[in-house]
Amino acid sequence: MNLKHSLPCLLLLTSFALAQHAAPHKKTAKAAPTTRPKADPALAIHQSALIVDTHADTPQRFLDENFDLGQNTPVSEGHIDLEKIKQGNLGAEFFSIWVEPEFKGHYAQRAMDLIDSVYQQAARHPDKMTMAFSADDIARAHDQHKFAALMGIEGGHAIENDIRLLRDFYRLGVRYMTLTWSNTNEWADSSGDIQNPNVKHHNGMTDFGKDVVREMNRLGMIVDISHVSDATFYQALLVSQAPVIASHSSSRELTNQPRNMTDDMLRAMTKNGGVVMVNFYSAFIDENYRKASSDPEKIKQRDAEVEAYKKAHPHADGSPVTYDETAAIEKKWAAQFPRPPLKSLIDHIDHVAKVAGIDHVGLGSDFDGVTSLPEGIDSVADLPKITQALYQRGYTREQILKILGGNFMRVMREVEATAKRLQNESQMSDALTFADIELMTANRVSTTQLIQSINQHGVNFELTPECRARLRAEKVDDSALDAMAKARRK
Ligand SMILES: [Zn+2]
Repeated sequence: MNLKHSLPCLLLLTSFALAQHAAPHKKTAKAAPTTRPKADPALAIHQSALIVDTHADTPQRFLDENFDLGQNTPVSEGHIDLEKIKQGNLGAEFFSIWVEPEFKGHYAQRAMDLIDSVYQQAARHPDKMTMAFSADDIARAHDQHKFAALMGIEGGHAIENDIRLLRDFYRLGVRYMTLTWSNTNEWADSSGDIQNPNVKHHNGMTDFGKDVVREMNRLGMIVDISHVSDATFYQALLVSQAPVIASHSSSRELTNQPRNMTDDMLRAMTKNGGVVMVNFYSAFIDENYRKASSDPEKIKQRDAEVEAYKKAHPHADGSPVTYDETAAIEKKWAAQFPRPPLKSLIDHIDHVAKVAGIDHVGLGSDFDGVTSLPEGIDSVADLPKITQALYQRGYTREQILKILGGNFMRVMREVEATAKRLQNESQMSDALTFADIELMTANRVSTTQLIQSINQHGVNFELTPECRARLRAEKVDDSALDAMAKARRK
């Protein structure tokens, strides 16, 4: 990360671990020891953990910069490489298949190219890393001392409004999808443009959007609610039969960012059984940094500089100038604001653990996708500092292991089990689907006939308040709704 550290800042960083161990919350130590004490219990916990990070934007670097994970690069250039992964003891990373909206007309192709770039890395380093597609795959890779690479799509627009493409992405190995990125798509609202009156919104999700969630449940692709609007969030939770994740979101109570999650949302996650993976980005975890960096004049200045660069460096084939090409400008711009202390990040983890519960919090760094990180976290190699800070706050070994990866593994297994159940149900039974019921109502089947069919075949869906409202709108009688609820319970 090109944050242009000053020298005193660097000294502070290298001494951070020890200083914190000796005197928590005081960063006054001057000595900069190069080795960490072996007997540190926090480090022992860290080394024994299966660590899962659910969001890193490195694939753009693979694809647009021809970056190889085997290169040990300075932190000013990138947050992740195989050497740093080893130092940070990272077990699994979800590489983000982030489709910039600029690729309009070619979303799916861009996604495919990014997916290919991750496979290419795994093929180049078979001794150190492996592709993984399930919780068991992650655990197996960990046992073999290999780094597990997974993929998540960032931005539902990547499926180009085609449920078949969603299935194809699953077949290619994609295991989560954020319903939106910062842009509202044709079936779900985003928090990124919810205030923009020029964008056509849907009050959350359209019927197709809800079908996307149902199909993700059936496939075993984790529903990711990072980036979505509040209405989309609550609707996704109503529709989803499996736990959902926020792959990289922090707390709005602590840092007032619309992309962060309110305490009410955190409590809804507890009920859903999902997990909130805390984002490390300075503007999402520190109110001072957020305020300083949201100065409209300064933003205008940065955007003008980025636009000027794009105009001056057009691609011969007409393809968009990517985020990676202008990242240096953005990093330099971000460096004018002082980095928040590591404490800000730990406060967010702590808050989510307290409000949502210790079983519902994890790590979603956003490495290689953000222009500023808190002090001490320069790359994935610094993950042990998070464990040390949590230990300092009194978190037990068991709790820390949950945060570092245990919670995510549980959710992934539950998503897989739900998919298996849904697939079995649809294959093994002749139970009526929601679509069957809708078809019968459209064909004006009488209430008596409808109830007869329901009692004979049963139904394979949960009659959520949402389904109930939809059927009521189609004039389905309450007695038929009661029959459905009973048939499901049998
Ligand atoms: Zn993101």
